[in-house]
Amino acid sequence: MLLVCRQAIDEETRQESETAPGEEKVVVCRLCSNVVTRPAHQTTVDSAFSHTFANPHGHVFEIGCFTRAEGCVSVSRPSSEFTWFPGYSWEIGACSVCGAHIGWKFSRINPPPSSPGLFYGLILDKLIFP
Ligand SMILES: [Zn+2]
Repeated sequence: MLLVCRQAIDEETRQESETAPGEEKVVVCRLCSNVVTRPAHQTTVDSAFSHTFANPHGHVFEIGCFTRAEGCVSVSRPSSEFTWFPGYSWEIGACSVCGAHIGWKFSRINPPPSSPGLFYGLILDKLIFP
């Protein structure tokens, strides 16, 4: 298994690159160009935007965290097995147009009122950023 070290997204740069309404930038599916989310929806989980994980089969994914992803639909039941984020269950997320697996939706199990109830972890390789 070759582990490729990818350059982390620079959050400062992303925030500075936000533009006025009407020129809002979008993040699209690499396969079909469907609008999946927006840089404005980027968030941090455990103090970081991007996280690198391996699944039980040894596949390595680098994901970025987003509060919303209107172009990502859940295609599985929630599971808490092998969860990458303790306290969260996950569902497989697919592009709403082409059906490609583009990430996961993480939902907090028994969320305290003050904490975000869910976020999307999207596979950075599967997306094109502005
Ligand atoms: Zn797509």
